[in-house]
Amino acid sequence: MVTIFEYSFDKISDFQKLRLVSKEFHKAASILWFRPFPLIYAPNSFINVKYCSICRGTPNKDKTIPYGNLPRPIYIYCDNFQCTRTVIRNMVEQARKQNKEILMKEAVMEYGMCPRSNGSYSECMFMRGWMWSSGHVRCLMGNYFKDVAINKIAEKYKLKYKILKL
Ligand SMILES: [Zn+2]
Ligand SMILES: [Zn+2]
Repeated sequence: MVTIFEYSFDKISDFQKLRLVSKEFHKAASILWFRPFPLIYAPNSFINVKYCSICRGTPNKDKTIPYGNLPRPIYIYCDNFQCTRTVIRNMVEQARKQNKEILMKEAVMEYGMCPRSNGSYSECMFMRGWMWSSGHVRCLMGNYFKDVAINKIAEKYKLKYKILKL
């Protein structure tokens, strides 16, 4: 079944549609998705990349790693199943090694207020695009970083977030 499934698509969009067709296809899709993947490193965003980092074909997608120093590394790739799979799995795994989760939908607004250690609240700027696996969000308060549990942040600064899971 995995083999039949594997040869019935090429693009990531077809993979996503096909896996909804039946239970068997869904199972086969998971097996294919979680197969080992090659480690790749994203070049810095100021480097002009003309080729998909995996198949060397024409790229039509990109994803910037949302944490770390600037300029942030960026994955340039194409919509072939293997290319997209390799990039997404690298992003998720490399973030998890640092106890971070990549967000598909943001968890907080850009600016908000956070509790200080003395109980008062201070204005801060939230780091977006990722959060700690522990459910904390990093923010910049004055000139230092603070990691605040998402449930300690006032509702009006929070958004309905979605973690990149696969
Ligand atoms: Zn490619
Ligand atoms: Zn804060």
